[in-house]
Amino acid sequence: MKRSGYKVEAVEFSYSYGGVPALKQVSFGVKQNSLFTIMGPTGSGKTTFLKALNRLNDLVDQTSRSGRLLLDGKDVYAKDVDVADLRRRVGMVFAMPTSLPMSIFENVAYGPRKRGVKSKAVLEETVEKALSAAALWDEVKDRLDMPAQRLSGGQQQRLAIARALAVQPEVLLLDEPTSGLDPVSTLRVEELMRQLAGSYTIIFVTHDPQQAARLDGEVAFLFMGELIELGTAREMFTRPRDKRTEDYITGKVG
Ligand code: ADP
Ligand code: MG
Repeated sequence: MKRSGYKVEAVEFSYSYGGVPALKQVSFGVKQNSLFTIMGPTGSGKTTFLKALNRLNDLVDQTSRSGRLLLDGKDVYAKDVDVADLRRRVGMVFAMPTSLPMSIFENVAYGPRKRGVKSKAVLEETVEKALSAAALWDEVKDRLDMPAQRLSGGQQQRLAIARALAVQPEVLLLDEPTSGLDPVSTLRVEELMRQLAGSYTIIFVTHDPQQAARLDGEVAFLFMGELIELGTAREMFTRPRDKRTEDYITGKVG
């Protein structure tokens, strides 16, 4: 089924808004159960890539695309793709924690409930597993009925991750998930990503080269919609091949 061997693969994928290109023939592959970072300055097309992959851009007017975007070797834009199923398989966490105005428990149970899980025991088990995987269980297990919005920013971001994990995704997309967090919470989320990468395929978007280096996975450097460089963090940060990569990681541009 996976002809390429990649969990996610872009093949000369381009995406435009109103005829203006945001992604220009980008090609790269993300291995299953790995941590992959997309690094680049604002406007380089990072969010566009994530939204294209789980088709959150479907309702945006006047977009066009070419090339292919594959999940398990199958184009996510193929006619027979069930978009709801695609979004279950490819979960997304946004920059700002977005807790629903309900309890911690209900925030995590929301997705499974919507997918028809009714059993209280199953929901309790699912919620505990997801909160544990998101490294939040110990902090909240005694107050699951508390409104989620009373948690700190860092906790709410881990709650958002738990909510994404609760529907058992295969791929987790994170769009600058630590941009609103303090340095300690940021490191905590990064550590969590390295752990989760054993069980999920993680695509982590950041504008921060230091964060890409700390995450220590494979890195794609996007600049003005183009893929400039692709490699492991170690390679890219010790020996960048492209001048634009070098300028970006040394803080000369972006
Ligand atoms: P990044 O996440 O790297 O900051 P984006 O993917 O958000 O980049 O944006 C890439 C380019 O596409 C930018 O020039 C941006 O203005 C444009 N763009 C993004 N979303 C839209 C939209 N809904 N309509 C029109 N242009 C958009
Ligand atoms: Mg963005």
